[in-house]
Amino acid sequence: MDLHNLHTYIRPQQLEELTAWDPGWNWLAGGTWLFSQPQPHLRGLVDLQPLGWDELEICSEGLTLGATCTFERLLQQEWPPDWPGIRALCDGIAALASFKVAHCATVGGNLCLALTVGVMAPVLIALEATYTLVNLQGSLRQIPASQFQIGPQQTLLQAGEALRRIWIPAQRLRGPSSFQRLGLAQTDPALVIVVGSRDPDSGAYCFGLNAAVSVPQALRIPSPGDSTLIPQLLQEHIHGWIADFRASSLYRRRMSEVLIRRCLAALS
Ligand SMILES: Cc1cc2nc3c(=O)[nH]c(=O)nc-3n(C[C@H](O)[C@H](O)[C@H](O)COP(=O)(O)OP(=O)(O)OC[C@H]3O[C@@H](n4cnc5c(N)ncnc54)[C@H](O)[C@@H]3O)c2cc1C
Repeated sequence: MDLHNLHTYIRPQQLEELTAWDPGWNWLAGGTWLFSQPQPHLRGLVDLQPLGWDELEICSEGLTLGATCTFERLLQQEWPPDWPGIRALCDGIAALASFKVAHCATVGGNLCLALTVGVMAPVLIALEATYTLVNLQGSLRQIPASQFQIGPQQTLLQAGEALRRIWIPAQRLRGPSSFQRLGLAQTDPALVIVVGSRDPDSGAYCFGLNAAVSVPQALRIPSPGDSTLIPQLLQEHIHGWIADFRASSLYRRRMSEVLIRRCLAALS
């Protein structure tokens, strides 16, 4: 789609080339969202691709993903066999992305778009990832995945600040993970997304919830024996249950419980 109000397009080779930021500008990653609908507020695009932020680095401590690493690259990667935790990441992409979107869309674009039905956010919350943000002066700050999104299509990013990379600790990747999604149909936006992972040493579970709630959130369960507490934990710790013409908030909460139980069964 043509973006009619665009006057500026910048392809910086280095972040330092950007000495100022206009409130009408946006970062451009894969463009799958930005070019999918009118963006009347947009005056300029700053293309992230020349910055080369697309690394995928595996080491014994964990996994680093550059913000512009594409979904396709993650699907094609050969992963260490002792990282079953990577499964939720790949299953989440498979549940979301068509061939076209998978080839262009980036992990960072998905997180920064911060859709309520966003898939990457609950996966990275369950894997206890950390995000590194960078501003125009090159200053870095780190944010736990569970704190990055603060509302529907709202994140902690300040004007001119970008998501630079994502870090997933190997400890989480060495334990099993499970991606569960419920929608009225396969092609319909999700009603509930639950992603679970189990710490291989302590046995504790971490869940990422999205789609049923307005902001992705984490839920921790110390051991499988505590699963009887799930309804109470959901009621006390998870907020912002969505109610709309497709489903009530009560339905979404109950189905979140069902998907958590499915995760627990898959992770045991
Ligand atoms: C019709 C449609 C339906 C979709 N449904 C779903 C869905 O159900 N679930 C789901 O998870 N996704 C959904 N998506 C999103 C899609 O999967 C992509 O993840 C998304 O389009 C963003 O990918 P991108 O890299 O192309 O980002 P872009 O389109 O380039 O950018 C998206 C937004 O993120 C910002 N941005 C991108 N990278 C950065 C960065 N590094 N730092 C700061 N800001 C950045 C951009 O400025 C822009 O605001 C949908 C997309 C479309 C078009």
